[in-house]
Amino acid sequence: MRILKFGGTSVGSAQRMKDVAKLISTGEKNIVVLSAMSGTTNTLIEISDYLYKKNPDGAGEIINTLEKKYFSVIDELYSTEEYKEKAIEYVKTHFNYIRSLTKELFTLFEEKAVLAQGELISTGLVNYYLNETGVKSVLLPALDYMRVDKNAEPDVIYIKEKLAALLLEFPDADLYITQGFICRNAYGEIDNLQRGGSDYTASLIGAAVNAEEIQIWTDIDGMHNNDPRFVEGTRPVRNLHFEEVAELAYFGAKILHPTCVLPAKLNNIPVRLLNTMEPEAPGTLISNELDRGKIKAIAAKDNITAIKIKSGRMLLAFGFLRKIFEIFESYQTPIDMVTTSEVGVSLTIDNTKNLSDIVDDLKKYGTVTVDKDMVIVCIVGDMDWVNVGFETKIMEAMKEIPVRMISYGGSNYNISLLINASDKQRTLQALSNHLF
Ligand code: ADP
Ligand code: ASP
Ligand code: MG
Repeated sequence: MRILKFGGTSVGSAQRMKDVAKLISTGEKNIVVLSAMSGTTNTLIEISDYLYKKNPDGAGEIINTLEKKYFSVIDELYSTEEYKEKAIEYVKTHFNYIRSLTKELFTLFEEKAVLAQGELISTGLVNYYLNETGVKSVLLPALDYMRVDKNAEPDVIYIKEKLAALLLEFPDADLYITQGFICRNAYGEIDNLQRGGSDYTASLIGAAVNAEEIQIWTDIDGMHNNDPRFVEGTRPVRNLHFEEVAELAYFGAKILHPTCVLPAKLNNIPVRLLNTMEPEAPGTLISNELDRGKIKAIAAKDNITAIKIKSGRMLLAFGFLRKIFEIFESYQTPIDMVTTSEVGVSLTIDNTKNLSDIVDDLKKYGTVTVDKDMVIVCIVGDMDWVNVGFETKIMEAMKEIPVRMISYGGSNYNISLLINASDKQRTLQALSNHLF
């Protein structure tokens, strides 16, 4: 069994849904994970914003516009009156549910219920389309098997058991369709796996059913060697190791959600990135195979803040770094990069919610400086320390660009550079020119 996940643009119009239906109707009994149609989750967030601000009329207008968009999709998608009517009823039920939430007190709970509607609608529509065209597909409701625990971590045993039981209920199905992104939390409430989380759904399902392969279908032909939104002439990378892709996804390669790597890696399930618009293209295969000595790709993570703590007391002292790290831990703020000298330490964070408290606490241990609006550029490949020459190429590319921090040696797969946000584009381009 394979898991096939299609992102927002892949189901972004009636025509795209028809294309997806063709791609998945292969006769293989696979599980298909769908995102909401592109733009829908953003619009649902906008609706929630109006409701938080107690403006039900503002929300109402957007709800009506979005609902109309779905009616026109329905008109184009189905050829029979029977299915058009069924789909209209289905969509109306979901929009009326959203409307019912505009009348109550609006909290995080209601917001999550609103956000879940995008995936519920897209899967319902594609499933009806498949049924209309004679495919016996079945909807597996994610809210019945996908669950996170009190720490917002997936409840893998529950997911595995519930999913296995659900699959047994429909032994005659040709194909299974399910929602990405949405889940329940430990209290049984509707929740989600964070923005872009449909990739995570696919890999959690892959792990739960021990799939033969997880396919992430999107709007580009695999992981490119640099961010195509900023660099010209990027090219797809055909093979990546799980460790390489974990670094790239975490450091900004939007094509894959960072959380989705681990379940696949732990269960040794290959992940293939494929292009819905060009289904024959080979895409990228992610596995435990490593191409020795090759630099593979570059990614960038925005909105980084660098914090430097300088102190004579650090000299020859033990326990200094622990005290520093404990401050970040106490504010539940993850650290991305760390560099040290004998009298100081610099580190980076991307969550600045508690920055001023953190800085206040750090001042007990030394002089603190903060640099905002920085970017981590991450160069990924097999960079075992015994390989020579890759550092020189990277430094050569950076010879005109100021670098605030450099980190290497944490893993064999990554060198990270911290630069000003205003230098992001030229850094990515210069690295591409020198490395590929
Ligand atoms: P989906 O909606 O299918 O989940 P996403 O928008 O989340 O798709 O991810 C696909 C996008 O990721 C591409 O359109 C591309 O602009 C962006 N992207 C960023 N970095 C890379 C990269 N290194 N390789 C490929 N795509 C990338
Ligand atoms: N629809 C959700 C989002 O836009 C989940 C996803 O697409 O992966 O973030
Ligand atoms: Mg995505």
